Order: sequence, then structure tokens, then C-alpha cells
Amino acid sequence: MRIAVIGAGIIGVTTAYELACDGHEVSVFERRGTAAEEASFANAGLAGPGYVTPCAAPGMPANIIGQLLSRYAPIQISLPLSGREMAWMWKWYRACRLDTSLTYRTQLQRLASYSQERLHHITADLKLVYERSDGHMVLLRSRRDSKLLQPGLQVLRDAGVSFKEISPVDARKLETALNPDTAFFGAVHWPEDEVGNCRQFALLLKNEAQRRGVEFSFNTAVTHITCSNGIAVAVAGENTPRQYDAAVLCAGLDSARLLAPLGLRIALAAVHGYSISAAIREPLNAPRSAVMDQRYKVAISRLGNRVRVAGGAELGGSPERKRTSSLQTLYKVLHDWFPGAANLTGSVQEWKGARPVLADGPPVVGASGIAGLWLNLGHGASGWALSCGSARALADLVSGKKPDLDVSGFGAGRLRA
Ligand SMILES: Cc1cc2nc3c(=O)[nH]c(=O)nc-3n(C[C@H](O)[C@H](O)[C@H](O)COP(=O)(O)OP(=O)(O)OC[C@H]3O[C@@H](n4cnc5c(N)ncnc54)[C@H](O)[C@@H]3O)c2cc1C
Repeated sequence: MRIAVIGAGIIGVTTAYELACDGHEVSVFERRGTAAEEASFANAGLAGPGYVTPCAAPGMPANIIGQLLSRYAPIQISLPLSGREMAWMWKWYRACRLDTSLTYRTQLQRLASYSQERLHHITADLKLVYERSDGHMVLLRSRRDSKLLQPGLQVLRDAGVSFKEISPVDARKLETALNPDTAFFGAVHWPEDEVGNCRQFALLLKNEAQRRGVEFSFNTAVTHITCSNGIAVAVAGENTPRQYDAAVLCAGLDSARLLAPLGLRIALAAVHGYSISAAIREPLNAPRSAVMDQRYKVAISRLGNRVRVAGGAELGGSPERKRTSSLQTLYKVLHDWFPGAANLTGSVQEWKGARPVLADGPPVVGASGIAGLWLNLGHGASGWALSCGSARALADLVSGKKPDLDVSGFGAGRLRA
């Protein structure tokens, strides 16, 4: 089939690669100059079933309200919210029910495990070399932080995911550079989770996809899609839409705008986050892999010769305006756990990115309900962790095969509810 993929973030690149592996003729449209320039640019890089959680969970609304006035609050709301953002919040609030959240959590963890397998398979098969390391540890500052994590841990136990609740002494054996002056309650360690450079992987896989014949058109924005007689993709600056047998929408946040004229209105919002990346100053003071501060929801990852600190969740506001207090939280958490690890007087990359988050949490992977149009979008805070599995499953569905993992729970049907 001739297939158009719209968007070359991590989701679009993995999708294009898998479709090409199945023998399709694939064209990717990307409005930016290369792949992974938006949400996939400088994320924390965590992957594995221990990392993924739905964005809606019981207790979250109360937690957010309780922390709104705190200087280092992990979640922020930039007022005033637009009508669409208010509607998104209402849907999100309703998805915070325990039963909904547990169902989605289980489904997400399965997809994360499948995705990790596929990531390892692709990496080994293509001999890709990118910045990565094994293991992920959540640091718990207090007994309360530990208590809040327990329902999620139970789901992981039930799913057979291996992890260990460990003491500060054992945590310090795994991450030897943890600040000896910062006292904490304990930690949870996922030895099979990992951290990897999402952008680097996306760029390497883009090259492999090109070798398999995928055509990438960069600096090429899709203005709209029509599906009345096959799939027509209209591109900015061209008079005649290009015709395809099928299209896969992987356009991150812009997906909602492209779907609306087709009668598919999805509650997709930008939840902004931040990262800082800096060269390691002293390797002995730097993390070995990745840690997550549970209270501040900030991840500190080792990516080759750099340390990356990422976190913050901000609904509303502009993508360009960086909130000073959110960046300060990242510096504070880095200083608390790994003082002196990074060269902060040299060039530090400060980045603000927008997670494409569907109000009820999980992404949509599958048929749109409109003939020939497929969706792979809304991966929220876990797009890197879920990318390779989502792409493989989507490619199977497009080819009329049954995916190895049942992804029917990620269907577009729930968006119409
Ligand atoms: C601070 C932060 C930390 C994070 N940490 C992690 C983490 O540790 N682990 C993890 O798994 N995830 C993490 N994430 C989430 C992850 O980065 C995203 O889920 C993922 O990058 C989404 O990928 P995507 O391809 O859907 O979107 P994007 O990367 O945004 O790609 C969409 C692409 O579509 C293109 N596009 C849009 N509209 C059009 C159009 N009309 N025409 C042509 N092209 C178009 C865009 O230019 C863009 O390149 C984090 C995110 C943030 C912000």
C-alpha cells in the first residue's frame, strides 16, 4: 500500500519504520527541518513498565489543589485556561476514578513491556548505538511518598513486573553518587527499566527507514486530510493534494486540529514540561542510570556525557514562555541528589516541551473509524516508552494482521464516548 505518515516525532518515525518493514511504500510529512524536534526532542528518556502510569489517577485532583501554592509544585496550571482546556480538565477529572485508572494502568504496562521488547529487538537487529543505561530508581523522601506509590506497585506486582523496595543504604549501593547529606525514606528499583536518548534513537531509526525506502519530506506541513475518495493529504504551498491508500496520523498535538474537520473531536491537551541538559562535571558525582524524585516528579538521567533533569507538568500557558519556578525546581532537585554532577556554569540546554495528553490517559493506537485513516497519537508522558510497541501493533493492524499484543483497549472508539 502507499501510506502517508504525518509527523516525524518518535511515534511517526517508529511507525514509518515498521510499515516499511512490512513492505509498504511510505511517505512521511514533517513540518520541522528534521525528526524529533518537538515533544521527542529532550525528554527524560525513561522506558519500561515501571515508568509508565496513566495521567489520570485517584487522589491526583486533591494532590494538585494541595500543591498549587507550593514553590516547587510538580503540577502547575497557567490561568486563564481556554474553553478547550477546561473541557479537557473535566474529562480528565472523570477519568481519575480508581477502576478506570487501574484498567488503563494495566493496559499501559503491557504495552510498555511489549514496546521495550520491540525496542531491544530493533536495537540489536540494526546494531544501533545510542546513549542508554539500564535500571530506574524512584527515590522516596518520606513515608507518605512511599504510601502514595503503593496502589501503583500493587498493579505491577499483579502484572509480574520485577522491582524491589529497598533501603537508602541499598539505594546508595546502586547509585553511589547520591548526595550523602540528603536523607530519604527508601527507594523502589526497577532493574529492567532503562533510560535512553529518544531523539538520538529517532534520528538513527529515521536513517534506517530511509535505507528501506521511506521518503521523508521535511519542512512540509500538512494543512488538512480528506478521506472521501481514498486519502488525500493537502500540503502547504501545493495546489493538488497527494493521494494515498492510507494515512497514519502521528502529529502529536496538532492531531486534534487535523481530525476536527473529519468529525473526530478529541480531547488532546498540551501538558508542558521542562528539561535541562548539561555536561557531566565530575563522573564520580553523576548518576549511573536514572532516578525519579517521587515528591517533585523530577527525573535525573545519565545520557552519555550529559546529565538530563526533566519534570514539571503545566496545563495552559504558551510553549515559548518558560516558567522560572519550574526550571528552578529542576536545579533544586539535581542539587539535592547529585550536587556537583553537572557543569552548570557552561552551556546548559533549557528546554520546554509539550506532552500530547488525551484526557483519559492512554494513547490511541488503531483505526480511526474513517476508512484508510489510522491513528497513533496521544502518548502523553510515555511516548518514548510506548513508541516501538505502538508502532509495531499499528503496522500489524494496517496490514490486516493480529498484533502480538491486544491493543483493542487503545482503540479510537472511546474518544466518541
Ligand atoms: C519534560 C518531558 C519529559 C518526558 N519524559 C519522558 C520519558 O522519560 N519517557 C517517555 O516515554 N516519555 C517522556 N516524555 C513524553 C514524550 O516525549 C512524548 O510522549 C513523545 O515525544 C510524543 O511523541 P510524538 O511523536 O507523539 O510527538 P512529537 O515528538 O511532538 O511529534 C509530532 C510531530 O508531528 C509534527 N507535525 C505536527 N503537525 C504537523 C503537520 N500538520 N504537518 C507536518 N508535521 C506535523 C511535529 O512537527 C512533530 O515533529 C516526556 C515529555 C516531556 C515534555
